[in-house]
Amino acid sequence: MLEAKLATKTSPGHKTRVALSDKVIFGGKDLVIIGGPCSVESLSQMEETAISLANAPVQALRGGVYKPRTSPYAFQGLGQEGLAILAAIRQKHGIPVVTEVMSCEQVPAVVAHADMLQIGSRNMQNFELLKAVGKVKKPVLLKRGLSATLEELILAAEYILSEGNQNVILCERGIRSFDTQTRNVLDLGAVVALKQLTHLPIIVDPSHAAGKRELVADLARAAVACGADGLIIECHPEPDKSVSDARQALSLEEMVSLVASLRPIAEAVGRTIKRPASKRQLSVVTLSGHDLAGNRGQSCACGR
Ligand code: PEP
Ligand code: MN
Repeated sequence: MLEAKLATKTSPGHKTRVALSDKVIFGGKDLVIIGGPCSVESLSQMEETAISLANAPVQALRGGVYKPRTSPYAFQGLGQEGLAILAAIRQKHGIPVVTEVMSCEQVPAVVAHADMLQIGSRNMQNFELLKAVGKVKKPVLLKRGLSATLEELILAAEYILSEGNQNVILCERGIRSFDTQTRNVLDLGAVVALKQLTHLPIIVDPSHAAGKRELVADLARAAVACGADGLIIECHPEPDKSVSDARQALSLEEMVSLVASLRPIAEAVGRTIKRPASKRQLSVVTLSGHDLAGNRGQSCACGR
C-alpha cells in the first residue's frame, strides 16, 4: 500500500498543473512536447534545434550537460559550458530548457540556467538529490527508475513534495525486461495506472524506451492516445552524429512531422497540441564547435 500523502489523489478529479513558464503548463488540456538532443554538443547544434522545432512547435528544449554514462570513458557532458549554451538559447529564443541534474552540488548551477530539472532514471532513488531538488522552486521532471515499481516512483515524488516543491512531473521512459529488440519496455499501463493514483502530470519518453528511431513515432502516438500529459523526445540536426543515443535520435524534420501526426490523436482523447506560430525569421549563428568526434554515436548510460 502507498504511504504517500502528498502525491496521491484526494478525489478522482484531482489534477495538478505544473507551469514551466506562463505559457507552458503540464497537466492542462494542451499537451506539452519537449524535444532536443540527448546531449548538448555545441551552441550551433542547440540553435539549429531550437529554430527547427519552433515549426512543430515544441514547447521546451531538452539537452543533457551532465550525462549519466555506463562507461566512465564515454562522453560525460559539457558541464558548465553546456549550461551556458542552454541559458543562451533560452534567452535568445524564449523557449524553456530542461536538463538533468546528477548530484546535490550541481543543483544551484542547474537552477540558475534551466527552467526544469531532470532527475534521471539512475537517480530516481538518490534520496539526498530528491531532497535537494525538493528545496528549490523550479519544476522537476522525475524519470522512473530502470526497474522501479510505481509505488517506488510515487514515493520518490513524495520526497520532493514533502520538502516543499510541489512542481513535480513524472516520466515513464521504459523499464528493463528480457527482450533485446527494444532497449526497454514502454509501460503504457503505468501511465494509465499513475493517472488514477496520482494528481501529478505524467509524460512519456518513447526515445529511451524504444532505443531505435523507427519505433519512436508509433510509441509517441500510443502515449498520447492513453492519456499522457506530454512527451519528451530526442532529436538532433544530424542524428547519426549524435554524441550519445544516436540510434534513437530523430532528425529535426522527423520531429516536426511527428508532432503534426499527434494532433488528430490528441483531439480524439480531448487534448490539444499548439499550432506553429507564423514562421519566425531567425538566423543560425556559427560558434565554435566541440571536438566530440571520438564519442559520437554511443549510447547514453543506458547501455544494457
Ligand atoms: C536522458 O534523458 O538522456 C537519459 C539519460 O534518460 P534516462 O535517465 O531515462 O535514461
Ligand atoms: Mn539520452
